[in-house]
This record gives sequence, C-alpha cells and structure tokens, in this order.
Amino acid sequence: MSSNPSLSENSPHLLVLGMGGTIAGLAPNPEENPLQYQAGQVGVDALVAHVQSMVPERVKLVSRQLANINSRNLTDAHLTMLGLAVKEALLDATVKGIVVTHGTDTIEETGLFLQVTCGKLAQTQSKRIILTGAMLPSNAPGADGPSNLLDALCWASTSIDNCPGGIYAVMDGRGCMAIDLAKRHATALNAPLQDAPSSSVGLINPSWLSGIKAVQAAWNEDLPIPQEGEWPWVEILTSHAGARPETITRWLGSAVQGFVLAGSGQGGFHDAWVKPLDQAMTQGIALVRTTRTGAGATLQNIPEVDALGCRASGLLTAPRARIALQLALNAAKRANKAAKPLTWQDFFARIADLPEIR
Ligand code: ASP
Repeated sequence: MSSNPSLSENSPHLLVLGMGGTIAGLAPNPEENPLQYQAGQVGVDALVAHVQSMVPERVKLVSRQLANINSRNLTDAHLTMLGLAVKEALLDATVKGIVVTHGTDTIEETGLFLQVTCGKLAQTQSKRIILTGAMLPSNAPGADGPSNLLDALCWASTSIDNCPGGIYAVMDGRGCMAIDLAKRHATALNAPLQDAPSSSVGLINPSWLSGIKAVQAAWNEDLPIPQEGEWPWVEILTSHAGARPETITRWLGSAVQGFVLAGSGQGGFHDAWVKPLDQAMTQGIALVRTTRTGAGATLQNIPEVDALGCRASGLLTAPRARIALQLALNAAKRANKAAKPLTWQDFFARIADLPEIR
C-alpha cells in the first residue's frame, strides 16, 4: 500500500480517498459506550491496511487523506477539493476505481455533488466511485467500517463487469446510486440507505441495473465544480407550526442567493411566508421547495400553483436540493456569459428530473 499517490504511482490501482467520519472514529470507552466517540481520528492508511489482506486478487491500493473531519462540519471547500481529486483520478489511466471513506451525516450531499459534477465522466471512463462510511467507530465491538470498506473496494474494482461506471455508495452489505442516499435513521447500520433503491453488493438485480442505465442515459453533461469561494450561499429553511415572517425577512438584507424551503406535507409552507418570499424572489433570491417529511416527491404546482420561478425539488431531499441549487446557480452564472444563456432553473431541472429507480 502506498500512502501518497505521487506522480510515480504508475501501476494499476484502486484509489481510496479519506474524508474522515465515524469509519475513522475512536471511542474512549468502546465496550461501555461505543456511540460516544470522536469522528475522524484514524488515518485512511490505517483503515486500508486493516482490510488489505482481505481484498480479492490482491489488487493494489493507494490511499490519500483529503480531510479527516466529522462530516457535519463538511464545507464547500471540502467538496471542491474532493471533486477535483475525483476528476483527476477519473482521468488517470492507472486508477481503476475510487473509494471515498466519508462521514454518514452529510454523505448524501457529497453523493449528489459527485453525481452532478463527475457522474458523466465516471460513466464515459467506465470507472466506479464508491462512497462508504460506518455507523460505529473503528474500535467499537462489531465495527461496521471494515466490512463496508471491503465491500466498497470490491465494487470499485473492475471485476464486476455488469455494473457501469458511475457514482455509488455501499453500507451494510447493500449498494445504491449515490444520488439516492438520504440519512433517515440516527443509528441503524444502513442509515444512509434506508429507503434507497439498492442491491446486495455483488448481486446486481436487473431492475436496479435498468434504473441505473436510465439515470445515466438522462445525465448528459456534468456541471462545473465551483472553485473555493465561488459557491453560492444557499440556506435551508423549515416551515412549521407557528412559522414567522421574520424567518424570511431577516435574510433580505444579506447576500444569500437561494433558499431551499423544507415545507410541510407536499412541500407547502406557512401563509406567513408568502409575502416575504415574494419579496425575496423580487430581490433575485432563488427558491426551491421540498418536503420536510423525509420521503416522497415534491411536485411543481402541488399543493398550490407555484410563484413564477420557484422550482419543486422532485425527489431531492432538502440537503440534496441545497447542493443541486448551489451547482445550478453556479452553472447559470457561467452560462450567462454564453450566447444563449441557460437559467438556474434549467440546470436544476436536469438534476431534479432524473428518472426514479424503483
Ligand atoms: N458524525 C459522523 C460523521 O458524519 C457520523 C458518521 O460518520 O456516521 O462524520
């Protein structure tokens, strides 16, 4: 194993990019209290070394530590760094597949980000990028990290030839497309995949495969990775009983560029927000509606007719819709320099309207 993929790394290998998370976590008293721990303590080298001997065909592994954080602290700059590293690896002929070890708290944001910025490239390069993490720290009894990492390495290797290149995730013995990740359980070992259409690792069922192909056929062009400092400022605001207009009006003097509204039910929001949101849109703040329920699609003009320019999120959860809106705003800003500019709504629709795998 090599800890540092320098330019001299010129033989075929799998690249493991370490971002931190519980998979790299340590608990002070793992026997008594495995859920009280610090994420991002163990280096990705050590995680890889632990499973190295179990990797089939003794495939060469190269690891690279990009960050070692609790993923609830993920920043735009981390995403830029990860996206650029993944792109570089996809274009490197010696890299046969990529695994990303990541905290599960925000793995759904990273999954959506990589699909939208690197999904097409992964497909055309026929390489798989597999996100994985763990729900138990590395020194807990029955830690799930090693088996998840092993599964991810198997998926990323080129030996599974009936699954196309793309962005996937693996947890608890199952794989899904990374765009379908949504952490909907605080502690379950399959928390980020709870409702994701998925398949057992190594056993790709035909309906799942046809769904993957439909998504990939619809995803024609990756969007640009924003440079550090270039990410649009987008906030998630949750509608609830007793919501106040001030929740919106307090933002109006700020430089915020977009809101994702986590609405109740079908994605509707409190009447107290109607006027201030009209004002926000008049000021040029982008608006996306989603549902706070955690499942189901948010549809345009349901439950009421949408204000002009407001977009429904489709199947995107609030965290995913937020990344999608940031990338759409950034793409539109760049496209505005083109002869026939596309709007953020055009770019957002490409993401939100991806076919559903069921
Ligand atoms: N808080 C941890 C993180 O996201 C949780 C995990 O990895 O499961 O980094």
